[in-house]
Amino acid sequence: MIYLDNAATTKMFESALQVYKDYACDKFFNPSAGYEVARNVAKDMEGVRAQIKAIISAKNGTIIFTGGATESNNLAILGSLRGGKCEYIFSQGEHPSVYNVAKELERLGQIVHFIPLTKNGEVDYDLLAQHLNDKTRLISIMLVSNETGAINDLNRVNELRKKYSPSALLHVDGVQAFCKFKVDVEKSSIDLFTISAHKFHGPKGVGALYVRDANKLKNIIFGGGQEGNYRSGTENVPGIMAMGKAIDCIDIEKNLHVVEKLNKIFKDTIKSLDKDNQISFVETQNPYIISVALKAVNGETLMRALQDNGVLVGKGSACSTKKSGNRILESMGIDKNIIKSHIRVSFDFLQDQKEIEDAAKIIYQTYRDIWERVK
Ligand code: PMP
Repeated sequence: MIYLDNAATTKMFESALQVYKDYACDKFFNPSAGYEVARNVAKDMEGVRAQIKAIISAKNGTIIFTGGATESNNLAILGSLRGGKCEYIFSQGEHPSVYNVAKELERLGQIVHFIPLTKNGEVDYDLLAQHLNDKTRLISIMLVSNETGAINDLNRVNELRKKYSPSALLHVDGVQAFCKFKVDVEKSSIDLFTISAHKFHGPKGVGALYVRDANKLKNIIFGGGQEGNYRSGTENVPGIMAMGKAIDCIDIEKNLHVVEKLNKIFKDTIKSLDKDNQISFVETQNPYIISVALKAVNGETLMRALQDNGVLVGKGSACSTKKSGNRILESMGIDKNIIKSHIRVSFDFLQDQKEIEDAAKIIYQTYRDIWERVK
């Protein structure tokens, strides 16, 4: 089986699993307890906070451990809510864990603007500029799209924020970027940054939120006051420590090189077979994710046939497979019929070139077989 759905989730590193086990079975103590072995566990968790801050180049601020990116995004957005009516800005490309929180803000009576995407999948910066003003409370724009791999220019977003909404907070869903690209929260003055461990070979159900100024955030979960009162509940220590181990095992630059080669092999193999140009790609600067459009064949049908032929690909984001249509590709102005023919292919640095070449050949042949039947 060749797994090409690494944007949905990744396999946990064995070494991270060992760490998980160590903190689940041996150092299993509650980090809030007063005795020394428990205090040591709390200290070990501080090490992971420092690690995350270092990798996103955060000079100050806090890391709050959460139960994954969905929770981090909810905390970032709902935790920024204040009394009175404010304006909130989201890109149309956001993951449901942001988009549906935005919908909830709207339901609560806040003014919410969804900024469309351009045809390359980035947020439309001109339209963004038009919607910013001094009532803007929060701007939430993801760094890398889980759907198309498009990378938003956060420096540009920050420049616009400085010009039109200097007091607005900038939240970034960094799930598909963290541990894959160099991130610098200082450079773009990011206030809130979301990560999720299972996207970089850590465990599922654990993540974090970087917060530049904790005074600007309110808790949305009430309880025993853990995580500086921003996220009550006993911390998932094994998960947090395993996340730290996974971060340790990642070499961003080296992996990027490997994945760039895989991406090229994939595209070159498809292009060499696809003599009549039936297959096209959303062009982005991100080698990890490719959104592939295949003329006249339904993506869902292809995905199922590929599964029978030993290749697993995504049909858009795993979280939105049950939804019909595709808000993100639609916002990019892609034709509805072409949207139906999209699949998402996403790579991992642990994969080898032969495997990717084989997968591309299988994808092409499987597509062709279906196409012969439906044309
Ligand atoms: N944001 C993005 C961009 C994602 O790709 C995902 C996972 N599909 C999430 C948020 C949600 O992450 P989690 O599974 O940790 O809740």
